[in-house]
Amino acid sequence: RKLNEPLLGLTTAAQNIVNADQTNYQETLPVPDTPDEVHNLSIEFNRLLQSLNQQVLRNRQFVSDASHELRTPIAGIRGHVALVQRHGRDHPEIIPDSLTAIDGESLKMQHLIESLLQLSRMDQAELQRSNVDLVSVISKGVAQLQPQVSQTIRLQVPAHAEAYVNADSVDQILSALVMNAHKYSAADSVIDVVLLETGPRVTLMVSDNGVGIPDDEKPKVFDRFYRVDSSRSKKVAGTGLGLAIVQKIVELNNGDVTIADNKPRGTRFVVTLPGKNENVI
Ligand code: ADP
Repeated sequence: RKLNEPLLGLTTAAQNIVNADQTNYQETLPVPDTPDEVHNLSIEFNRLLQSLNQQVLRNRQFVSDASHELRTPIAGIRGHVALVQRHGRDHPEIIPDSLTAIDGESLKMQHLIESLLQLSRMDQAELQRSNVDLVSVISKGVAQLQPQVSQTIRLQVPAHAEAYVNADSVDQILSALVMNAHKYSAADSVIDVVLLETGPRVTLMVSDNGVGIPDDEKPKVFDRFYRVDSSRSKKVAGTGLGLAIVQKIVELNNGDVTIADNKPRGTRFVVTLPGKNENVI
């Protein structure tokens, strides 16, 4: 009976949560003082509930943010369509400008949708990892990126560095960080890409001499849709999803990404990846 009563209490409380018409995603189960087993069980159940509830709330916020972000370009497109419908016949000179605007807004939507799809696919992704020659992958990546940016990319790599990662992931991380460095720094400045062997791990650093990221914003820039100082960012094309994707890819590779200040100015992204796996050929 000592076990039965508190267990019955838990069962009833759980049923009440399931059958409730409304949920505020805050519900918890009662935690009886004794016996220890049931006390501990209900604490663990509550932790599970809390973690699932937080996930639901995060997903909800994500859908709401995504809809909001898609609404802006759609409104722009519809505005221009209405303008052309109303005045296009009498003032055909407005048509080319409207077409350019519609083209730009639909491109924005395309980028946004592609990034959203990539993020959602990564929720179920399991990456194929192998020992990858990072010196080669990073050098080739930089050679491909250099023609796409006005800044000079300075590359510094050791003679040899292998990491146990997915090679496409490394390309994606490098490209996202270099393109951000490009977007948020002066056109004639220098971007440094440095690869280091740090003990059992390998470190990739991408540094720029640009606008920098204030300390209190550093953790936030990895959040989906977050952009520093929207007025400033608005001038630079972007979705606010790039770094969320970078963080996800880095985590899928068992790595870690942090932000530091570059001296005397600018930002440094530091990505640490697992080194060569000796158990794999
Ligand atoms: P996006 O660049 O599309 O806005 P990201 O997720 O790549 O989205 O970056 C989020 C925000 O972080 C950017 O809007 C910008 O404010 C800031 N940021 C990212 N990289 C840099 C950088 N190298 N220097 C300064 N700010 C940056």
